[in-house]
Amino acid sequence: MRYEGPLYRPPSEHNAYILQATIGCSHNLCTYCDMYRSKAFRVRPLEESLEDLKMAAARYGNRVEKVFVADGDALILDTDHWLELLGAAREHFPGLRRVSCYAMASNVLEKSDEELRALAKAGLTQLYIGPESGDGPTLKRLVKGATYDDHVEAARRAQAAGMKISVIVLLGAGGTARSQEHAQETARLITDMDPQFLAALTLTVIPDTPMARMQDKGLFELPDIYGLLGELRTIVDVCRPTEALFRTNHASNHLPIGGRLPQDRQRILEVIDAALDGRIPLRPEHFRGL
Ligand code: SF4
Repeated sequence: MRYEGPLYRPPSEHNAYILQATIGCSHNLCTYCDMYRSKAFRVRPLEESLEDLKMAAARYGNRVEKVFVADGDALILDTDHWLELLGAAREHFPGLRRVSCYAMASNVLEKSDEELRALAKAGLTQLYIGPESGDGPTLKRLVKGATYDDHVEAARRAQAAGMKISVIVLLGAGGTARSQEHAQETARLITDMDPQFLAALTLTVIPDTPMARMQDKGLFELPDIYGLLGELRTIVDVCRPTEALFRTNHASNHLPIGGRLPQDRQRILEVIDAALDGRIPLRPEHFRGL
């Protein structure tokens, strides 16, 4: 109940109670991201987080069905720390259905299969993982701290442990220079990670980030709206997840769409084509957000 801002959560966690068990991001190096640049990473003392859960229970109790554990890569917490939090969450919120958090591939890979299974069994059943791109040079440029194969392995191990994964990709992440490769390789990575949930966001170049400095020097150029929609089209057309709920409802996107892949692929492609042809309106620039 006590927060150190700024605070972020995925759109689908809008109705979750947010427990801020870590402050900032342990990586904090991705060139496009300024979410936690103002915060030095630290783990909040367990007692503080347990107190917060107690306060939330007193205020919301039965109404809490979802808990999102912040900030940027909360899976980095030690497994024992997590198990304490998950036990307290179950105790305080009788209607709890799921606990989720953002995770880097490295957070997953640093845990053993046994630890991942214990966490899933205790209620941590959904991870939001943002490789942003499947293109090797783009991943390096973004300083994601993990490779294509790391992301595939992290997804495989998390799902084998009983967790669902939500994969986040970033339109425009390869710039104009690697737009095609970014879209094709991202589609391939989605197929290989085979997530239950898939979200596409659109890159916004934020002032004072390394990405903005690259842009200022002419080393990075964001594709225009039609280039970004073209990437989205390629990703939807080429990726082959077994069954994923797909969304572009994040405020950063020009075209909010959704559906199930593969079932709704054709319908989604038709909407993107209509947007590319100017037959349906795009979200006005001033309504877009980060
Ligand atoms: S891992 Fe996530 S929160 Fe951390 S710097 Fe990268 S994008 Fe930002």
